[in-house]
Amino acid sequence: MKINFNQLDRGYQKFKDEYNQAAINVLESGWYIMGDHGIKFEKEFARFTGSKYCVGLNSGLDALILAFRALDIGAGDEVIVPANTYIASVLGITENRATPIFIEPDEFYNLDACKIEEKITNRTKAILVVHLYGQAANMVNIKEIANRYNLYLIEDCAQSHGAKFGEKTTGSWGDIGCFSFYPTKNIGAFGDGGAIVTDNEQVYEKMKMLRNYGSKVKYKNEILGVNSRLDEIQAALLSVKLGHYDELRLERAEIAHKYLSGITTHKVELPMIRDYAEHVWHLFVIRIDNRESFQTYLLEKGITTQVHYPIPPHLSEAYQYLGHKLGDYPITEEYANTMISLPLYEGMTDEEIEYVIDTINGYRG
Ligand SMILES: *Cc1c(COP(=O)(O)O)cnc(C)c1O
Repeated sequence: MKINFNQLDRGYQKFKDEYNQAAINVLESGWYIMGDHGIKFEKEFARFTGSKYCVGLNSGLDALILAFRALDIGAGDEVIVPANTYIASVLGITENRATPIFIEPDEFYNLDACKIEEKITNRTKAILVVHLYGQAANMVNIKEIANRYNLYLIEDCAQSHGAKFGEKTTGSWGDIGCFSFYPTKNIGAFGDGGAIVTDNEQVYEKMKMLRNYGSKVKYKNEILGVNSRLDEIQAALLSVKLGHYDELRLERAEIAHKYLSGITTHKVELPMIRDYAEHVWHLFVIRIDNRESFQTYLLEKGITTQVHYPIPPHLSEAYQYLGHKLGDYPITEEYANTMISLPLYEGMTDEEIEYVIDTINGYRG
């Protein structure tokens, strides 16, 4: 059997007629950017996250970059961020010339709330929390710290669409929630896309200008902006997917729970679920010593896996200038050396899930 890490065409096939019709409607409308479909999706997505406002953007990275810009965070400012995250989280900070201050993760792979306070200085302006792999971080404690030190709280929700901590959905805990609709994300477009959500009307108005050359009224440019808009075809396709998301998240959860109960070998460490934190299973990440031989074994059996992420941002070439070295964030580095993500996608069959489980349980390495 051959099992890819992802199989996006299966997701398309699920609601093929609806996706096709949505795309054709836009094509025939003659209006392709900043129109009714975008506005409709923004309203739906704001409601979905429990936020007042949503602004559609070109990508998750743009959402992060523009979130810090909208809050005037820049040169000389420090932003607290988990050391174990995708590099885009950190780029959102450094693209504004602010300085990332890395914090080690807890056992749920998210920002360890106990380690934040010791890194706060008089230059600290914000905390960027990342709900990694689809599980919400410890938002009660993190928000309490943000409030106590008067810091902005920004959420990177690129992997956590609809995940809750307590009663509140990720993205609605902080000042700004940043989302990606990259095709592999839980709510994925058929191209690039992103959005921010917020309850702050000023941020909302500024974000609408920032994404459109800094102007509200055509050719009247009030601030320096960029071109970062969610196009009409993607917005219409995303509305279709959002409409089916209850079903899709259930499907992901069912696959994850089959893995959790089926994988019984003591050679791997399974993900843990935090109390009060909902997991939407963007990625199913396990840990194993000697990862390379395990990954090769799976590949020989036809199963493709991925590693999220092999090089933590503080050790990446791009961030050499920050002056970090191997050993600075040992928990993060240990995770980076042992993490491996299993196939999990819409339309995965029971037979495929069973095969992955049996193959892993049969590992003798
Ligand atoms: C995917 C991702 C991003 C970036 O989103 P893009 O739409 O690809 O720019 C940011 N942060 C995290 C945690 C991500 O997984």
